[in-house]
Amino acid sequence: KEMTLAIIKPDGLYDNYADKIKNAISDSGFRILNERLVQLDEDAAMSFYAEHSSRSFFSDLVKYMTSGPVLIMVLEKENAVADWRTLIGPTDASKAKITHPNSIRAMCGKDLQRNCVHGSDSLLSAQREISFFFKEKSPG
Ligand code: ATP
Repeated sequence: KEMTLAIIKPDGLYDNYADKIKNAISDSGFRILNERLVQLDEDAAMSFYAEHSSRSFFSDLVKYMTSGPVLIMVLEKENAVADWRTLIGPTDASKAKITHPNSIRAMCGKDLQRNCVHGSDSLLSAQREISFFFKEKSPG
């Protein structure tokens, strides 16, 4: 079976969607192998999103991701990486509400930035991101 990294972002926790998101996770056949509640600091958020460091939205993204605690989860299932991306829906939550109304981002996200959840975009990213949060020197 495959593993992927899921994050409930600060807006998702703040708006109390953790239980609903976890229900969607188990209803879709994922098992939560591990979870941690973490308050990211600026360094950790910048390092996690390093691939976006040259983008115009980077500093806003870091502010958003450090604005409150996040819930980090390792999910397991066959085809976990792609299936979790499908379940969360497109990046822009305001569009997801129209095009993917049953997706998690349609349920709890707001716009292109505040999209309430994260999912690894490839098997390689999943491995990197799981080690980032679940190894000895992990943030938080
Ligand atoms: P994630 O990596 O969080 O699962 P994603 O792969 O759908 O999301 P990315 O393109 O990797 O999207 O962007 C990472 C995050 O940065 C998005 O989830 C969103 O919160 C934010 N973001 C992306 N594009 C923009 C943008 N143009 N303006 C503001 N925020 C953005």
